[in-house]
Amino acid sequence: MKNRVKRIRDRGTVSHRRDADTLMEQPGDFVLVTRGVHRSFVIRCPDGCGETLTINLDPRTDKAWRFYRKRNQISVFPSVWRDNGCCSHFVIWNHVIVWCDKYWDDSGVVVEDDIELRKKVLSVCTKEWQHYTEIAEKLDEVPWDVNWACSQLARRVNALVEGRDKLQGFFKLS
Ligand SMILES: [Zn+2]
Repeated sequence: MKNRVKRIRDRGTVSHRRDADTLMEQPGDFVLVTRGVHRSFVIRCPDGCGETLTINLDPRTDKAWRFYRKRNQISVFPSVWRDNGCCSHFVIWNHVIVWCDKYWDDSGVVVEDDIELRKKVLSVCTKEWQHYTEIAEKLDEVPWDVNWACSQLARRVNALVEGRDKLQGFFKLS
């Protein structure tokens, strides 16, 4: 394991991709490229390999990730999985890097207003299976937050049922 960072660091916003590189100093530093709409999220690879990743945010051009800024905490959905170089696989969730390793350690992530979030999630859950991304879309919330809230509602208080196998990521009222 190299010099992995646990948090990302906001290095600002630019209008052209070429202006991003000089702003990043260390692993986990990121720059948002915005021109009318969000174009890309540029981040110095958080595993310390020294490479810079450009994550597309513009659905008009290619497969695009979703970018969220809530209470000034940044999340990107879905996970980032490099298929070359260091092959890192990680999640950016409320400014924290969660590595997709053998085990999932999200202990550094803080979900603000979690009681309110669980109430909102329950208010849109039904007896039909819904994927957490659908629930997040309805609530305009970060999918990682909603998945976490759903899992808590299923595992701790049995208010929801969590799907398995093909229904992994799906939830319904119990
Ligand atoms: Zn890397």
